Amino acid sequence: MISAPADVAAAKAAFPGWAATPRAERARLLHAIADGVERRVEELAQVETADNGALLRSHRRGVMPRVAHNFRFFADWLLTLGHEDFETRGHTNQVSWDPAGPCVLITPWNAPLMLATWKVAPALAAGNTVVLKPAEWSPLTASLLADIAAGAGLPDGVLNVVQGLGGEAGAALVSHPDVRRISFTGSVPTARHIAGAAAANLTPVSLELGGKSPLLVFADADLDLAVDLAVEQYDNAGQVCLAATRLLVESSVAEEFTRRFAARAAELVQGDPREEATDLGPTIHRRQLDKIDGFVRRALDAGARAVVGGGPDTARGDLYYRPTLLADVAQDSEIVQEEVFGPVLTLQTFDTEDEAVELANDTRFGLAATLATGDRERAERVTARLAAGTVWVNCFFVRDLRAPFGGSRHSGIGREGGTWSFDFYCDVKNTVTAP
Ligand code: NAD
Repeated sequence: MISAPADVAAAKAAFPGWAATPRAERARLLHAIADGVERRVEELAQVETADNGALLRSHRRGVMPRVAHNFRFFADWLLTLGHEDFETRGHTNQVSWDPAGPCVLITPWNAPLMLATWKVAPALAAGNTVVLKPAEWSPLTASLLADIAAGAGLPDGVLNVVQGLGGEAGAALVSHPDVRRISFTGSVPTARHIAGAAAANLTPVSLELGGKSPLLVFADADLDLAVDLAVEQYDNAGQVCLAATRLLVESSVAEEFTRRFAARAAELVQGDPREEATDLGPTIHRRQLDKIDGFVRRALDAGARAVVGGGPDTARGDLYYRPTLLADVAQDSEIVQEEVFGPVLTLQTFDTEDEAVELANDTRFGLAATLATGDRERAERVTARLAAGTVWVNCFFVRDLRAPFGGSRHSGIGREGGTWSFDFYCDVKNTVTAP
């Protein structure tokens, strides 16, 4: 694999040609990439599952078709970006969306190709060239994407994929002075390094980071729906940035909720992610499992009670962690405040709406929140007070690419989706012309 600076040089050399390519042609090529993804859905799904252990059925039927859609969406959105005109004393102000230059995109392992293409597609559509560095634990589908893009006719140097360790290949890319945008999805500690490197070159940076999102269950909620939403948080073995890992339940229904939740959790099928019947696969890596178990051990030592699970499933080998729910946890404890990134939820109760909001907002994160309530007015009141980039009311994980996605506080800086993506990947220009 060529070294990081060589890829930046390739992206820099290809930039003028790609930036000058008419929008309609760029859009056509992005649709051709989408066609290529659609032709290879099965292969991409198999490879992604082999690489990161997430469910094959969801890669095959959900994720990979969405990857193709990501390219189609941003290709079509590009064509809707108009020139905004304003008039001042007879002068016209014409606002245009110019490509910014070579972009470095750094992505994590939990949803590799999905998250990468939320960045690659708008960056290319905007007329930028790209250097993508996927996570070292899940490198394969990014390289397949490069292959698909070449097959679709994307010119050389427009999309470059670098494989390597974060602290080496990644660090070299984000500190490169020729890079005009850095978009990163990953953890808070890495974000600090990247923001520091970006600051040295004044490179604009977008950060999509971790979370510790709440699920608020009010007594007026449909309890079956609330339980379904809570159990859904174990998807991808809990390795989901948006997961609502803190269950906050109104005291009057807490006992009934917990009983139904435990019964539903016991029905989850844990096993081989390639099997159609599997609900919960392995964690990605032994190191991740040890990290998860460390959080749970320390919480149990501090007085938490395991209502469900509470440790690895050693009978299945060394990658499976049992879906876990911990009660009797203090608000200021590590297990409530820090992102575990595994199938581990906590349970806390509240008596009033104010208390629910206070608990929900009391972490350093602000990525998402989910509400289960039968009262629309309550939903509006509570939503207005929550620190979260996305709030789901009586639903979870519904994502429209036209809408903004991102986090506040330590969950990130900036938003992805629709015009927000183009706002980041473009140098917006205003041209003032005399009458
Ligand atoms: P990570 O921060 O360890 O790594 C992410 C990427 O950064 C990898 O490609 C890695 O190689 C690279 N990297 C590491 N050090 C680097 C450096 N010094 N310079 C440049 N690049 C470097 O994160 P992870 O463990 O792969 O992913 C899990 C984290 O990602 C969790 O915190 C999760 O919440 C977060 N995440 C956030 C979102 C979101 O949209 N907000 C989505 C998915 C995951």
